[in-house]
Amino acid sequence: MSGILTYALHYEGEFNTNSLGAVSEGAKLAKEIGGDAAVAVVGGDDLTDDLCSSLGKYGASKVYRANAPEGLGAPVVDVMAKVIADEGYSYALFGGGLLGFEIGAGLTARLNAGVTMEVTEVKAQDGKLVAVRPILQDSAIVDVEYVSEPGIIIGRLNAFDVQESGDGSAEVVDVDIQIEEHSTKARMVKRGEQRGADVNIEDAELLVAGGRGLGSAEGFELCEALAEALGGAVAATRAVVDAGWYPYAAQIGQTGKTVAPKLYLAAGISGAIQHKVGMQSSENIVAINKDQNAPIFDFSDLGIVGDLNKILPKLTEAVKAKKG
Ligand SMILES: Cc1cc2nc3c(=O)[nH]c(=O)nc-3n(C[C@H](O)[C@H](O)[C@H](O)COP(=O)(O)OP(=O)(O)OC[C@H]3O[C@@H](n4cnc5c(N)ncnc54)[C@H](O)[C@@H]3O)c2cc1C
Repeated sequence: MSGILTYALHYEGEFNTNSLGAVSEGAKLAKEIGGDAAVAVVGGDDLTDDLCSSLGKYGASKVYRANAPEGLGAPVVDVMAKVIADEGYSYALFGGGLLGFEIGAGLTARLNAGVTMEVTEVKAQDGKLVAVRPILQDSAIVDVEYVSEPGIIIGRLNAFDVQESGDGSAEVVDVDIQIEEHSTKARMVKRGEQRGADVNIEDAELLVAGGRGLGSAEGFELCEALAEALGGAVAATRAVVDAGWYPYAAQIGQTGKTVAPKLYLAAGISGAIQHKVGMQSSENIVAINKDQNAPIFDFSDLGIVGDLNKILPKLTEAVKAKKG
């Protein structure tokens, strides 16, 4: 049996966008190399038949459902390792994100497999998969082939587009799994929301991103007010996340999330390459910076040279007035 096994994370009755991107990509590639487009899901009673088989809408033909703790890497490694050992899948594909990295790395060690991380594209060539990944701070691209099976492919967050290609009726197969003792040594006690995490920034069409130019954690209130008026979400640079001004969940860039909203409004952000790689695909980039030579103006559609403390409140008022 060949084919591709992906992992889909769910929460409150829905699969997350990043996972659905991986499922869609896995299904497309499985068709190209021939073989099953399978998905592993882990959880409890919330994993109903309907929810699992709905992954067929994104091209999955088979869904392996295991009763095990959701949200931690180790139990998922147990489940996927068993499915791969029993069914012989040639590749495991993940949509990135911290959990995807954790599970992918664990599975690699468990199966003594080859792994490629931060993958931005996967190609099918002669019945095999080739992972494409940027290296050297995104200044070069490499193609990675696997010399043994299974091959583990971990995408960049949201690197794979969600595509509906099926009828929502994947076959659901229950996996009889005995979770390893070492996989039970950590358990999730609470799942909470961080400031700014109530909106999923990967899905937001309008993002107001703040950088060190905001001056302090309180400065983010200006971004939050504008984002709320626009109906968008707030994003951040690594500099402010490292400073503790805003949660990591909102970080955009090489070591954060990759986004492509309709509007990316960058306030007090210099435009370092590591930030640019996470937002350069945005449809419209607007930058506010007091330094007219800031690099961000080199890749902005509209640049405003000035003090964000004056401009952001005025913009918020203007948006509110327009909306009536
Ligand atoms: C391996 C590695 C990975 C990294 N990954 C990431 C990543 O994922 N994401 C990321 O963002 N960075 C990342 N970085 C850090 C990156 O190199 C930059 O340091 C960071 O993006 C800078 O953040 P900033 O633009 O908020 O701050 P700064 O570079 O300090 O820029 C602040 C800007 O605000 C402007 N400003 C100041 N006051 C005002 C005002 N009142 N009004 C208007 N403008 C004002 C200034 O002119 C300046 O341009 C990474 C670095 C490394 C080495």
